[in-house]
Amino acid sequence: MNAPFLNIDQPAADRIARPGSGGATIALIVPVHNEEGAIAPFLKAVCESTAPLKDKGVALEFIFVNDGSSDTTLEKLIEAQQTDPRIHVIDLSRNFGKEAAMTAGLDSCDADAAIPMDVDMQDPPHVIPLLVEKWREGFEVVLAKRANRSSDSFLKQRSASMFYRVHNWIAQQKIPHDVGDFRLIDRQVIQALRSLPERRRFMKGLFAWVGFRTASVEYVRDQRIAGQSKFSGWKLWNFALEGITSFSTAPLEIWTYVGATISALSFLYGLLIVAKTMIFGVDVPGYASLLVSVLFLGGIQLLGIGIIGQYLGRVYAEIKQRPIYIVRRKYEGMS
Ligand code: UDP
Ligand code: MG
Repeated sequence: MNAPFLNIDQPAADRIARPGSGGATIALIVPVHNEEGAIAPFLKAVCESTAPLKDKGVALEFIFVNDGSSDTTLEKLIEAQQTDPRIHVIDLSRNFGKEAAMTAGLDSCDADAAIPMDVDMQDPPHVIPLLVEKWREGFEVVLAKRANRSSDSFLKQRSASMFYRVHNWIAQQKIPHDVGDFRLIDRQVIQALRSLPERRRFMKGLFAWVGFRTASVEYVRDQRIAGQSKFSGWKLWNFALEGITSFSTAPLEIWTYVGATISALSFLYGLLIVAKTMIFGVDVPGYASLLVSVLFLGGIQLLGIGIIGQYLGRVYAEIKQRPIYIVRRKYEGMS
């Protein structure tokens, strides 16, 4: 892939193409998992939408990451590479998940900026020139923000909005609403991301954590062009848990306050019982309230232990220090 030809310490706006500078390269990072039907239309649409960029001194390259596809995705990619040498393919040894696949793409990206993109055209290629334009204005991160979520089911819309609200309420680094991974990130941002050593990667959170000057453009998200979504309800739930537990320890800490409140209330209740006994004598009834409070406290304790388990599981995964992904082979293009 292209060697860096401009000094990365310069601000973004100074580094990008200007007459005589040799132009800038932008890499589209495209994770693919069983997407044989989507690759050809994706390439066609991207080439059409980005043709005008060439005249502005911006060259494009594609980094496809084959995330353990069991169909002919890899063959389709290699075939496409024969006719378009700007295509690079990283073949992972198995399915590592979209976050890991994206990390693999970013790790081997040597361009001036990268745009992580879904292959199913839900991230529309006509937005790319808009992202580039903002980048030229000097922003290091340009977010592509969904104008609405009408392409999602009602349940997904509600659960997504709840996730953003809960996440941003308890996490310090806020993630912008309705922005997926589709965005332009400058070379400096890519390097910052590479410096984060964590293995369980919730990319949206990491993108927000590294910061940088950020702008956004709006777009309308369409339906998938081929195949099916790879994210089931259960996978999305786990993804949300990953996001929250990766960027906030509030769920762990809240138990201190819940515990303290319940202890204080129990103490007051104890005082009440003592006072009542002293005034009215021994009182036998109380079976129902006893059972309810035992069950309630048991439930709270299990919940607390469960949350500790969530974090412990993540600590365990981190401490094993396994690589985020394993590359079977790289098929380098010519550019
Ligand atoms: N993807 C991947 N590995 C996975 C699941 C998905 O590389 O384990 C890719 C997929 O091929 C697509 C992108 O991630 O290019 C987004 O997936 P999808 O469209 O299924 O997600 P949705 O748009 O439904 O959230
Ligand atoms: Mg999709």
